Amino acid sequence: MSCKHLLTTLGLWVLMVAVVGAAPLKALIVDGQNNHNWKETTPHLKKLLEETGLFAVDVATTPPRGQDMSGFQPDFATYDVVVSNYTGDSWPEETNRAFEKYIADGGGMVVFHAASNAFPNWKEFNEIIGVGGWGGRNEKDGPFLHWKDGEIVRDMSPGSGGTHGPQHPFQLIVRDPNHPITAGLPEKFMHSADELYSQLRGPAKNLTVLATAYAAPEQRGTGRHEPILMTITYGKGRIFHNALGHAGIQCRSVAFIATYQRGTEWAATGKVTQKVPDDFPGPDQPSMRE
Ligand code: ZN
Repeated sequence: MSCKHLLTTLGLWVLMVAVVGAAPLKALIVDGQNNHNWKETTPHLKKLLEETGLFAVDVATTPPRGQDMSGFQPDFATYDVVVSNYTGDSWPEETNRAFEKYIADGGGMVVFHAASNAFPNWKEFNEIIGVGGWGGRNEKDGPFLHWKDGEIVRDMSPGSGGTHGPQHPFQLIVRDPNHPITAGLPEKFMHSADELYSQLRGPAKNLTVLATAYAAPEQRGTGRHEPILMTITYGKGRIFHNALGHAGIQCRSVAFIATYQRGTEWAATGKVTQKVPDDFPGPDQPSMRE
């Protein structure tokens, strides 16, 4: 091999390492207990992150309900983002403290659908997720949120947190088109039949509403524009809260897929480099993938 060839080969090799070997973002999906079918949804959540080409994904699964939880101590600090698909038994105190510190120090989190039902009595967790539902949540936990006349309304009326009517397709309306997660999305887009989470309530500090959906009374809804996509900051941490995604079928709706992929990248890095996909839905029809 001539000297010139050797240099060319070396140059290509350096380039390949730079492109292919760029360290991926590390994501951890937490599951193991849920009143939803986490065994069905976690593979979707994992695959959807991997197909962006940005993430290497691990899964941490807790013991089943009622079993000894003391060994559940994921090393959160080694991840760029933690995706929660978990609601169930309490974690060990050390795990809770480690999670709080991880977020406060600049970690990322994605709250997936029923993960907002978790841990009603863990104060810092509720600050991290912003709002939650069920589990005895009521006016002691913070306001209901809804969107009215161009701004978020914080409603301290008494009442339990968390409700939804029957599954039906619904339209999301972007309320913050300048956020990296929503930048470039159409103002209105349809999601497939899903539960329209409503009347979530919680501390709602440092919370930004990115998109809402109208909970129509004819679908046993509140008649309010309910927050569906939100971001929260906690210390230096970034949290993306996505209320969509009851089961596997909803994980095939492009409204969910694209907001989940973009929101997870934002939670991990503070930026979104992904393009809006060509099959992203418009205002009238959901868009589904195989
Ligand atoms: Zn559900």
